Amino acid sequence: MLDKLLKKKTAVVTGGASGNGRAIVKTYAEEGADVVVADVQEEPREGGIPTHELVTEEYGVDATYVECDVTDTDSLVKAVEAADEFGGVDIMVNNAGIFRQKEFLEVTEQEYEQLIDINVKGVFFGAQAAAKKMLESGDSESIINMSSVAGIIGTATFSVYHASKGAVRLLTYSLADELGPEGIRVNAIHPGVIETAMTTDDVPLATQKSAEATPLNRLGQPDDVAGAALYLASDELAGYVNGESLIVDGGQSNT
Ligand code: NAD
Repeated sequence: MLDKLLKKKTAVVTGGASGNGRAIVKTYAEEGADVVVADVQEEPREGGIPTHELVTEEYGVDATYVECDVTDTDSLVKAVEAADEFGGVDIMVNNAGIFRQKEFLEVTEQEYEQLIDINVKGVFFGAQAAAKKMLESGDSESIINMSSVAGIIGTATFSVYHASKGAVRLLTYSLADELGPEGIRVNAIHPGVIETAMTTDDVPLATQKSAEATPLNRLGQPDDVAGAALYLASDELAGYVNGESLIVDGGQSNT
């Protein structure tokens, strides 16, 4: 029987208050990790008690919330530094993101900049802040970037989102090459339609029709994404996995 997979590890999860990030924080804590939840809001979008409080109560790990806007690099540095209290960052999950739908010809510069700032700049400088700290420690560490199947295929009316998630995919490959020799594995997750506030409220794609369009005949759940994030974070399971694009979409994009 495997010991807890993330014992003695500390993770920072951006966008960790809600949805996929919340599920990742819970799964990491269940596997023994201490966690920093870095988010613009403490309350989960879907309701419930704040994620850091939940995991402290349920799993007895150390967890804290840091108010962090990923478009602000200083705020990302502070979130990473908060992990020092728990022994320093070992796993950085650049998960915070937003999703918008609009016809290409209607997208404004302001809308473009807001999405690219959160989805690309936030991942870029989140990875940078974490890598600087990780290089100081010299341990084996992991950075996980949240892309999407939208970073692999393109569909109408999601131009900015596709541009952002495609950028995250290639950024991940570049960092895997640059940081791999330093013992930092960098990988990306590409979820399909996952049932979170993003797909029930922001852009309502979490429908029966969408479920039926996947070979597994159901919508993805945040725990499906968290399972992939656990695998990639674990040195034991994924110690030789670097520069990987892990698709978690029930088989939809390849069938
Ligand atoms: P969500 O809206 O449920 O949660 C996103 C979290 O990010 C929220 O807690 C929000 O407060 C936080 N956030 C937003 N802007 C932020 C900022 N500037 N700084 C810090 N935190 C910020 O969304 P989700 O579905 O959990 O999405 C999480 C990630 O997964 C995103 O990168 C998203 O693009 C990606 N993703 C989601 C799906 C899906 O179907 N839900 C599919 C593919 C990829």
